[in-house]
Amino acid sequence: MSLELNVEKCMRCGACVGACPVNAIFLKEHSPAVGRGCTECGLCVNICPVGAFSLGGE
Ligand code: SF4
Ligand code: SF4
Repeated sequence: MSLELNVEKCMRCGACVGACPVNAIFLKEHSPAVGRGCTECGLCVNICPVGAFSLGGE
């Protein structure tokens, strides 16, 4: 699996940044980005009000 972020959907509310239990999401030039340490727990997928995150892949 892999976590994907659709930056065109993102409205930059910042909710995902606070929701990530391992602080893997950070703001980069006002857009969220997923850095190292993501465990693919899915919390950000569930919290994002516009469904910008998705867990997909194999
Ligand atoms: S899937 Fe979980 S660990 Fe990965 S960025 Fe989202 S909240 Fe953080
Ligand atoms: S929760 Fe969703 S809309 Fe808000 S900053 Fe994160 S990805 Fe963007």
